[in-house]
Amino acid sequence: LLLAYDPVRRLSRTQVNIERSLVNARMIYEVLDLEPQQRDAADAVALEVREGDVSFEDVHFSYSAESPILNGVSFKAKAGRTTAIVGPSGAGKSTLFALLQRFYDVDRGSILIDGQDVAGVTKHSLRSQIAYVSQHPYLFEGTIRDNIRYGRVDASDAEIEDAARLANAEEFILAQEGGYDTLVGENGANLSGGQRQRISIARAIVRNAPILLLDEATSALDNESEAKVQEALERVMQGRTTLVIAHRLSTVVNADHIVVLEEGRLVEEGTHGNLVAQENGVYARFHRMQRQRGENLLDNKTPED
Ligand code: ATP
Repeated sequence: LLLAYDPVRRLSRTQVNIERSLVNARMIYEVLDLEPQQRDAADAVALEVREGDVSFEDVHFSYSAESPILNGVSFKAKAGRTTAIVGPSGAGKSTLFALLQRFYDVDRGSILIDGQDVAGVTKHSLRSQIAYVSQHPYLFEGTIRDNIRYGRVDASDAEIEDAARLANAEEFILAQEGGYDTLVGENGANLSGGQRQRISIARAIVRNAPILLLDEATSALDNESEAKVQEALERVMQGRTTLVIAHRLSTVVNADHIVVLEEGRLVEEGTHGNLVAQENGVYARFHRMQRQRGENLLDNKTPED
């Protein structure tokens, strides 16, 4: 506990948070095709998604030479299924997402989509097949309609409204005086956390990509909002290959496959039932701690903390 008050530690945490938000901002800009495309290799081809199988094969990666972040991570996220990624803060979960979208290239190993190495495809074709729902969705200053349209710039008004309906966002949008033309302040200042998330889910729905990356919120929403967000997420996940950085117990329990990362290594994988049965396993310990607290949020600390 004392450590938490150590000013140096606090400062370095702030620094990390700032860097993280920059990475998130960059991710969203690029996923939405708003940044100029980085150059592709001359022989890069367009990715063709048939089923939507994603496979990490012996992936090694470091942001800087001194500190390896991923050390030989291999797992498969099956087409149309949900794969939950769990593990303590800093384990490398978000880095997997950044590599899959090619904001960085792997140092060794490969990431394949339907057997095609993402290293050999154009970034535009890759990112157009991926929708990303962040835990802190970024909303631009503009109308609600435009904020949803950022998911796919050529979406029609009818598609936007359908998406909002599926995302459980229609009711609160129509309750605003301007409806879909209501201006949201910078970063959605006049919307609640749950409303911002539902707009971001509507964005993912209009994007209509076969692969969905979801960074689940760590902070609790009020119960009603929580249920609406959850229901909307279930709809958008349906039939898509979903990789979710999971913080909610209900998400991991319902996932088709769970991957446990620790310090850049995959330490366990399986279903909730398999993993809970390994009593001394990392996942089983997480689960016991969480149950003792009686919350739906998985702790993001290592069980030893
Ligand atoms: P959290 O649950 O806290 O988001 P995580 O498991 O997603 O954690 P990552 O965000 O992938 O972990 O980070 C893994 C490690 O890489 C951390 O030590 C982090 O500080 C570092 N890291 C992340 N992004 C960068 C970056 N852009 N430059 C340098 N280091 C980074």
